Amino acid sequence: MHNTCVVCGAHTPRLLGIFITEEGKQQLGGLGFHCGRCAAKVMADQRGEELHYLEIAPIAMHNAQGRRCVFHFQYMTTGPVPGLRACEIEGYGYEAAVVERPGESYSALFERLLEKLRALLARSDLKDAPRTSTGLAMTGSEIHGRLEYDVDTHGPCVVVDGRKLDWMVLGDLLMSHEGFDFRLEFDLGSED
Ligand SMILES: [Zn+2]
Repeated sequence: MHNTCVVCGAHTPRLLGIFITEEGKQQLGGLGFHCGRCAAKVMADQRGEELHYLEIAPIAMHNAQGRRCVFHFQYMTTGPVPGLRACEIEGYGYEAAVVERPGESYSALFERLLEKLRALLARSDLKDAPRTSTGLAMTGSEIHGRLEYDVDTHGPCVVVDGRKLDWMVLGDLLMSHEGFDFRLEFDLGSED
């Protein structure tokens, strides 16, 4: 999924850009989708800071299911997630970010992000189960994932083990635990 940057016109993967919303109009001097560099520039200007923005060459890693995941990296010292973030840009996949600590070297920051990615990729909350209606089953009693907006259905979807599950598929999957109590909790520190 790509969008066009309203400032420079760059055709940019959605996940490597930022959609600056109506509320930020006066402050951020523009509306609409900004590529990473233009978003960082707008925010740095607004804060009177120097622009620190870097795109790093992609790296391929494999997840526990053997899928090759190509991560694109983006570094910026201003914006919603100052620090380093990584994401897959094809469809819905893994995403992770780390916020820079005071005095932290770039290589330490990068290593922290890689550790976080390795932990994400090593996790398997789902397994193939051809005889079920979804073709999937839970490996245990927990599911970790990310809540996303589904551009196809204009509704919610989730990303588990780096793959997108439709809301109905998630429901069918959870029915293996019909009748059990559950706890839904968001990890607010997941971008740290
Ligand atoms: Zn741009």
